[in-house]
Amino acid sequence: MSAKANDDAVRAWRTEAIRRIEADYNRSADTHLIRLDLPRHPGITLYLKDESSHPTGSLKHRLARSLFLYALCNGWVGPDTCIIEASSGSTAVSEAYFARMLGLRFIAVVPATTAAPKIDAIRFHGGEIHAVDDPRTVYDVAHRLAAETGGHYLDQFTYAERATDWRGNNNIAESIFAQMAAEEYPVPAWIVCGAGTGGTSATIGRYIGYQRHATRLCVADPVHSVFHRHFDDRSVTSLPDGCASRIEGIGRPRVEPSFIPSVIDRMIAVEDADSIGAMRALSARLGRRVGGSTGTNLIACAKLVAEMEAANEQGSIVTILCDGGERYECTYHCDDWLSERGIEWRAAEAKMQALIAID
Ligand SMILES: *Cc1c(COP(=O)(O)O)cnc(C)c1O
Repeated sequence: MSAKANDDAVRAWRTEAIRRIEADYNRSADTHLIRLDLPRHPGITLYLKDESSHPTGSLKHRLARSLFLYALCNGWVGPDTCIIEASSGSTAVSEAYFARMLGLRFIAVVPATTAAPKIDAIRFHGGEIHAVDDPRTVYDVAHRLAAETGGHYLDQFTYAERATDWRGNNNIAESIFAQMAAEEYPVPAWIVCGAGTGGTSATIGRYIGYQRHATRLCVADPVHSVFHRHFDDRSVTSLPDGCASRIEGIGRPRVEPSFIPSVIDRMIAVEDADSIGAMRALSARLGRRVGGSTGTNLIACAKLVAEMEAANEQGSIVTILCDGGERYECTYHCDDWLSERGIEWRAAEAKMQALIAID
């Protein structure tokens, strides 16, 4: 094929790839915003943006779509590009879904210790697994694989904050504000989210600023995460070795490039056991299981509810239901698993039950 014919073919492929992603989006409904009345706390209402209802089950569905569109529009991905990511979690699952949609090979670089159900979920969507013994090397190995295969490393921790259009385009923040429009307090006093890549907090924080809303952004962070320490003191950029968050998807040992502290108004550090207790109480109230990071968010919400009440303030608080509980049946949702690890979740569970009680 001549160079010109090849360019034309790549261009046609790219046009078709973007159309497929847009058509998939066009067939999809927005995620629900669930209202939780708090009868014991009159004047304050909690809302959950239910990101578990995406086709791949978590808020990473939005990120994966953004990363693919960004890479395609930058001309980084063509019909023969192998897609690579350093992720053992929800990001790789969602990216595998989009890679398959475009007919592209996808390789997830994961630590060898990654639990089987996660690997199964990536493979279910057609992804390949490249396991490495030393978890600290996943980023270097992803770079190397991309160089060797002439592929593209999506690099969620670098590109999450810039791949999403923060001004609108139905990003998570615009969707939340649109869905709040008919509520008593349509402009939330607080939006509460977690930080893994930092992409969600960057998008929400920038959107609030751009729209000139009075809403404040609170990030709930596991105690064993560097983000809240960095927020308090910008010279802190990593955690001591061996110190790690147990809550999947949030809390990192190093400050990721996509974490933008300047758009955040406040951070609240949450104990892992409290996150798990809150996750369980909310699962019981909703009648279906949610994941651990949703529990972390809820603990921060409880603190804000108490403060608003003490200050005699009324209003709404919106937080994110990041993923469902199916992936944690044998871990956070299993009493024996928690007891064996000495995790005391019951006190936090009882406290959260009281907060969100229906009567
Ligand atoms: C990634 C993730 C988060 C945090 O979202 P970011 O936009 O990456 O900061 C929260 N909860 C879960 C379950 C996640 O997978």
